[in-house]
Amino acid sequence: MTDARFYRECLTGSYRAPAQRQVTLTPGPHSAYNRAVLPLSGEQGEPGLHMTDTISADVCVVGSGPVGGTLACRLASAGVATVVIDRAALPPMEHPAFDGRAYAIAAGSRTLLMEAGLWEHLPDPPNPILDIRVTDGRVGRPASRLHLHFDHRDAGDEPGPFGWMVEARGLRRALNAHVRALEHLRVFAPAEATVQRSEAGALVRIAGGPSIACRLVIGAEGRNSPLRDAAGIPVTRFDYSQTGIVCAISHELPHHNLALEHFLPSGPFAVLPMAPSADAEAGGAPNVSAVVWTERTRIAETMLRLDDVRFAREIRRRLGDYLGAVHTVGRRWNYPLSAMLAHRYVDTRLALAGDAAHGIHPIAGQGLNLGFRDAIALAGLLIEAKDAGEDVGSPALLARYQRARRPDNLAMLAMTDGLDRLFSTNNPALRLARDLGIAAVDRTRPLKRVFTRRAMGA
Ligand SMILES: Cc1cc2nc3c(=O)[nH]c(=O)nc-3n(C[C@H](O)[C@H](O)[C@H](O)COP(=O)(O)OP(=O)(O)OC[C@H]3O[C@@H](n4cnc5c(N)ncnc54)[C@H](O)[C@@H]3O)c2cc1C
Repeated sequence: MTDARFYRECLTGSYRAPAQRQVTLTPGPHSAYNRAVLPLSGEQGEPGLHMTDTISADVCVVGSGPVGGTLACRLASAGVATVVIDRAALPPMEHPAFDGRAYAIAAGSRTLLMEAGLWEHLPDPPNPILDIRVTDGRVGRPASRLHLHFDHRDAGDEPGPFGWMVEARGLRRALNAHVRALEHLRVFAPAEATVQRSEAGALVRIAGGPSIACRLVIGAEGRNSPLRDAAGIPVTRFDYSQTGIVCAISHELPHHNLALEHFLPSGPFAVLPMAPSADAEAGGAPNVSAVVWTERTRIAETMLRLDDVRFAREIRRRLGDYLGAVHTVGRRWNYPLSAMLAHRYVDTRLALAGDAAHGIHPIAGQGLNLGFRDAIALAGLLIEAKDAGEDVGSPALLARYQRARRPDNLAMLAMTDGLDRLFSTNNPALRLARDLGIAAVDRTRPLKRVFTRRAMGA
C-alpha cells in the first residue's frame, strides 16, 4: 500500500489491516504487522475531537515522561507534526509527593532542553556542578586519603559546569506548561490507546477519542514498555538487590557546588548540590543537597523506618563532616535498582527511547542523560528527514538511529555495572587496587581530562 493510500484510508476511516497480517499479540522479531494494547485508563484530549476523527501526524510518542515529553516538544518546535500520549494524567505528576528525584543534567542534555523550549520554563534555577569528588570508605570512618577530584576548569579550552541539578518535579512543571502550548503538538493524557503498525504506516486508536495516522511510533513508556514487548524485542535484565534511597538534606555549611560520590561497601552514596528553593530559604535553610544513597535492600528497609533524627545521623555517618550538621528535608523515596537493555531499539514503524530501551544503575547519575541522548539522535534524524521531504519512519532511518545509540548505551551500562561491582565490596585486595587506581587517575592529567569531558556529556 502506498503512503498516500494509507493516509487517505485512515482519514476516511476505511483503513483495515491486511487480512494476512491480522493482530499479532504473540510477538515475533521484526513482525511486519503488530498491534500493542496499551493498558491505559480514561481519556482526555482536545475538546471538539470525536472518536471517529482521524488526526494525521508525522510522529506519535507514547509516554510523556521526561524523555518522551521532551522529545515531543523538540520535534514539535522544529515543525514535525507530533502527538504525545500518556496513560497517566500529567498535572498530578507536579505534586511534591510524586517523585523525589533530582537529575544531574549534562551539557548536551541542557542544549536539548533549551531547543525543546523547556529550560526557560524550569521553575527553580538549576544549580551548576563545578567540582566532583570521588572518595572511598566505610560507614562511620573517614574517607580514604586517596581520592579523585575533578575541577570543571580541567575540561580544556571552554570550561563549563559538569552539569546542572534539576528537580524531577521542576522538569515536570516545565513540560506540563509547554506541551499544550506548541502549535505542532497534540497531547492526550490520561488516554488508553491501541497501536497498529505496518510497512505503510501506523494507526494509533485512542479509546473513546480520535485515531492518529502517523509514520512513526516512539515507545517512551519507561522500563515496562508494552510497545517493546508487543514487538517481541528481547530484554536482558540485571537485578542489583540494592535500593536507591532518595531524599533532600539541609546542611550547616555551603556545598560550594561540589558533588560527592562516596563509595561504600553497600553501594555508592552521592550528595548533589541543589539551589536553595524558596521554601528552604523561607525556613532558614539556604544550603540544600540531594542524596542518592544506594544500599542493600535489606538494610535500606531498616533505614527507611528510622525517625528523622536517627535517619539524619545515619546520613552523617556516611557523609562525614564536610557539610557540618545535617537535617532531612521533606520525605524519603526508595527505588529498587536494576539494569536492563533491549536487544533492538527498532521495529517496523517503531523506535524505542529512554528507559523503554535501557536502564542503568544510578551510580553515575546518567540514566536520563542517556535517554536525552536518544532523543537528540532521534530528533536530529527525524527533523532532517522531515525537512528533506523523506519518510520519517523508514527502515533506513531507524537503522541509523539504532547504530547511533545502542553502542553508547551499552558502554554506559557496562561502565556503571562494573563500577558498582568494583566498589561494592569489602575485599581488601580489591579495595587497595581501586584506591591506587583512583590516585593514579587523579595524577594523570590526560586521563582525568577524558573522564571530565565524559562526565560533562561531551
Ligand atoms: C534513584 C534514582 C536516581 C536517578 N538519578 C538520575 C540522575 O541523577 N540523572 C539521570 O540522568 N538519571 C537518573 N536516574 C534515571 C532516570 O530517573 C530515568 O532514566 C528516567 O526517569 C527515564 O525517563 P523516561 O521518560 O524514559 O521513562 P519514565 O520516567 O519511566 O516515564 C515513562 C512515562 O510513560 C508513561 N507510560 C507508562 N506506560 C505507558 C503506557 N502503556 N502508555 C502510555 N504511557 C505510558 C508513564 O506514565 C510515564 O509518564 C535515576 C534513577 C533512579 C532510580
